[in-house]
Amino acid sequence: MKKLIKNVNVFDGRNSSVLEHQNIVITDNLVTDIFAGDFSEENFDEVIDGKNQFAIPGLTDAHVHLGKTHIDGATASYDAIVGSVVAGKLLDHGITTVRDAGSVTDGLKRAIDEGVIPGPRIYPSMNYLSQTCGHGDSADAHTNRDIQYRNPRGVALCDGVAECRRAAREQFFFGASQIKIMAGGGMSSLCDPVETLQFSLEEIKAIVETAADYGSYVLAHLYTPACMQRAVRAGVKSLEHGHWLDEDTAKLIKDNEVFLNPCPQFTVEEAKWNHMGEFSGQPSQLKKKGKPGGAKVKAHIEETTNLINKYDLKILFGTDLMIMYDGYEPRENLDFTVYKKRFGSYKGLLAATGNFNDITKLTTYQNPYPGGEIGLLKKGSYADIVITNGNPVEDLDVLGSKENILFVMKDGQIYKNKL
Ligand SMILES: [Zn+2]
Repeated sequence: MKKLIKNVNVFDGRNSSVLEHQNIVITDNLVTDIFAGDFSEENFDEVIDGKNQFAIPGLTDAHVHLGKTHIDGATASYDAIVGSVVAGKLLDHGITTVRDAGSVTDGLKRAIDEGVIPGPRIYPSMNYLSQTCGHGDSADAHTNRDIQYRNPRGVALCDGVAECRRAAREQFFFGASQIKIMAGGGMSSLCDPVETLQFSLEEIKAIVETAADYGSYVLAHLYTPACMQRAVRAGVKSLEHGHWLDEDTAKLIKDNEVFLNPCPQFTVEEAKWNHMGEFSGQPSQLKKKGKPGGAKVKAHIEETTNLINKYDLKILFGTDLMIMYDGYEPRENLDFTVYKKRFGSYKGLLAATGNFNDITKLTTYQNPYPGGEIGLLKKGSYADIVITNGNPVEDLDVLGSKENILFVMKDGQIYKNKL
């Protein structure tokens, strides 16, 4: 099957200069050529007129929890059903690949990859690893301790080097392509103030080593400088949230070529912050913590943004989908406008394209999608292509509304076409 998208301006996922008046050749599920100039339409099974709009790589979200809702009393089957619906909605927003930052997504991934249901490619982390009384701990986690997989709520509790190694190995057994750990306190969980350091240096090192033995890497939930410094020293490669950055930590991140995923949760409405304790279903216990972690972290976000820009840290685009937002409505598009404000249009777009491509390389032979490039639009990329109404390299607000996402192709299949 040979398709042609004619007459588009192409952003390749890396270079800020857009190539004008290009034609993209798609053979089955891969991009096999991008060229300017004449062609004969009868050489193709299908020709799509890009109408001089902008073709960019399929967008990515490096921090979702597609297999886990945060609803009281939710079960695995409820999570799976909701996840499958939300997965389909993501394509409408132009998101063709996600990295799941901890939840059980093996069935969802399989159903999507087999074409049973529409949805993005998934880099699964499966259950996230948490210490006892850590960010992933809950009464639920204790009762499910011995049956983490069969009755999962997305968490594997582990303490001590041996348990940490075992828990990490188990996630690879379940199909993880990388390991997610909770390496610091949270803002809405039961027993872990945001300042807590979680997992000892030795425990994190053991998890990092285990991941490396399986050809992959570790991403970590954390906020404070102390947590980030410990994680980087232990070899963690992707810091999630990290909104409490200071100068020394920024330098350490830069020197160690670590990715930072500054999920823009702090832009959600103020009212939401006041209710942050409620969605874990444990508001009364939370009140004992005094000032909510959310407010403490929020005070540092401006400085964090300045340091990310000053040190030109390599950022990813992540939304914490399914955990952060109500109504299971993806809000990727809205978050792109936040990235524009914080990091500028080009850097914000890079976070969801070329930088994601870079982090897929850290999964080496565990990469679940080894057949093509993800996050790039060039010869040899998967045919994951978004066409936008306007140039997002110059103005990322173009991605601020899903109405501007005119066309979405994933794996050579067209999921949306409003051209
Ligand atoms: Zn998360």
